[in-house]
Amino acid sequence: MNLATFNIICLAWAIIAIITFFFLQHVNAPYGRHIKQGWGPTLPNKWGWAFMEFPSFAIMLYFFIVSNQSAFAGMLSVLWMAHYFNRSFIFPFRIRTKGKEMPLIIVVSAIVFNLVNAWLNGYFLSAFEKYTENSFLEWNFLAGLALFVFGFIVNLISDHRLINLRHPGETGYKIPRGFLFEYVSCPNHFGELVQWFGFALMAWNYPAACFFIWTAANLIPRSKKHHSWYRANFTDYPRNRKAVIPGLL
Ligand code: NDP
Repeated sequence: MNLATFNIICLAWAIIAIITFFFLQHVNAPYGRHIKQGWGPTLPNKWGWAFMEFPSFAIMLYFFIVSNQSAFAGMLSVLWMAHYFNRSFIFPFRIRTKGKEMPLIIVVSAIVFNLVNAWLNGYFLSAFEKYTENSFLEWNFLAGLALFVFGFIVNLISDHRLINLRHPGETGYKIPRGFLFEYVSCPNHFGELVQWFGFALMAWNYPAACFFIWTAANLIPRSKKHHSWYRANFTDYPRNRKAVIPGLL
């Protein structure tokens, strides 16, 4: 495949992300607190997370092993895998959601999302990249890396705090407090958005930009739904919190 064809695929995939964004304004992805009956067969929540996130890790690992990537492309692959190692092998086994299920359709659609995004990014980093040693000195690498690390840490800390709101065996929900929760309902989503924006800045290519668009298309509507859910379920929910972007949204 040549680069022009590859870029057209990325563009088409980004357009699907934008359509998904509008679709998700009306449909609440039915997992976690938004789980509902009527979405077909289900599987245990933990395994749903592990199955749907693993392909992203595995595909990037495959390209990393079989291709002769430059140091810069290799670093991007490792950052991607670090995120997905946590999401596939650590996060699912830490969450306290015993007895909770996830619809198979969510798992399958997330697998498709992850397969396409990881393939586009891994393929680019193996077939088309032209990074040099100087890429490590460019402004976009330095700013992108800082944002990626910041976002990753915010995401990890926020997920950690949410998971620990429940004592082992508990199932309900509580109002999260402290850290960036004082500003937004979903700092974990905020961290993930910043992280993939940083990645796109570092990578400076179509598939990484496309992945950021997809992340925003999924997470902005989900944060807004979480935020409305908190407001509907807790009369004492702090009024000054935004959904996902401090002070803005
Ligand atoms: P949440 O942020 O809603 O929850 C994370 C975990 O904490 C879940 O186990 C949840 O339990 C628990 N929890 C959340 N809030 C509370 C509370 N108030 N009281 C008690 N327990 C709570 O999960 P999401 O599914 O929205 O996101 C999980 C991670 O996946 C995030 O890091 C997010 O950034 C990432 N993600 C990435 C996407 C992408 O497109 N890149 C898409 C979706 C998520 P329970 O499951 O029972 O609600």
